[in-house]
Amino acid sequence: MTLPFSQGCMFGCSFCGAQTRKRETFFNVRAHLDTACQLAERFGLTTLDLYCSSLDFFQQALPGGDLELLTGQLESIVELKERHPGLHIDLHALTRADSYNAAMSSDHVRDLVLEAGFNRFGFGADGAASVEVLRAMRKHADTLRSDLVTAFQHMEENGLTPEILYVFGIPEETPETLAETRALCGLLLETFPSSEYRGFPAKNEIPGNANWNRKGWKGSPAHQRLLDEPDQFLNLGFETLANEISHEDPEMRLLVNHYAVDMSRHAHDLGRVRSYLTVPVSSPGAPVMDERTLDGFREIAANYAPELTADLTVENLSERRAAQVCTVRSRALSGEQQDPHEHQDDEGDEEHRRAPHLVVLVHLRSPSAWPVLGKPRVCRPVS
Ligand code: SF4
Repeated sequence: MTLPFSQGCMFGCSFCGAQTRKRETFFNVRAHLDTACQLAERFGLTTLDLYCSSLDFFQQALPGGDLELLTGQLESIVELKERHPGLHIDLHALTRADSYNAAMSSDHVRDLVLEAGFNRFGFGADGAASVEVLRAMRKHADTLRSDLVTAFQHMEENGLTPEILYVFGIPEETPETLAETRALCGLLLETFPSSEYRGFPAKNEIPGNANWNRKGWKGSPAHQRLLDEPDQFLNLGFETLANEISHEDPEMRLLVNHYAVDMSRHAHDLGRVRSYLTVPVSSPGAPVMDERTLDGFREIAANYAPELTADLTVENLSERRAAQVCTVRSRALSGEQQDPHEHQDDEGDEEHRRAPHLVVLVHLRSPSAWPVLGKPRVCRPVS
């Protein structure tokens, strides 16, 4: 569940569609958490797993910030936990590596974070493999690579799980920087045995980000296509593989997807993946994978629906996706209910079986749809 915590980030990364270039403002965390605790108790729950809405959880620790704004919120959480002793509360948030390291120079902040119940933080690692890419993204984080190592080390020493959130494949990338990205993600996963991978092919222009208004984008063939065929907006989700809208150049598209699948497969092999890739809406003449990438994709998909992977080909991927979307839509439109015996082995779908009217969600959540549509994720994890 989301815990409204804060919004706003003083940075302005070019691909980010969140509330950028704004001071962080806080919600009434105490009131939101108290309500969540009371509801949990009323429904007999014993654990609450909460994802804080902050864009960069420790931003107040950076120059110009007021760390007491954050520690005050953490103290409220600790106090509320004491008032609800029957509830186990796990918390999770996103952060930049530099702000995490700045905050954790204070043992008091670290102790409050642990006492409040945080068990993992997702770090924006985008661009860390190349200073040129970092600068093109306007991350203002030239030392990101070493900052990540410092942060991950501190996380593991304190029993916290670090997540590698990596957006890659912006137009300034080259085959070399993509290869370096693959190497860095592999190195982080191998060096930090509790770390987990969340990788996303870049979507350079999305409504709300700085690039959306850049000269040359509005009126471009891809922009016009989005307006003419609104289904193409599905291709802007960060979990979606590179596609005709996000990567017009076929060579770059195939290369970005090669690394996306390869890194995801590596993380799957280690059992430490927390992101899922979805197949985009694509035209038959605009492939999204070559044969070697499809081999890796089949291996990933076989974890979820082996029966659907054997006859997947580069050519039939888009067709398979379209078929699945049609099924979802027609079942949603007809109000057809989920067969209560479907996916009985998937404990995660239990809540959806109890709400059969959510046909679209049920099907998107069902493992048999993941290889084609992928498990739905929040669009763009930021920081
Ligand atoms: S990606 Fe993160 S650091 Fe960059 S603007 Fe968005 S929220 Fe801020």
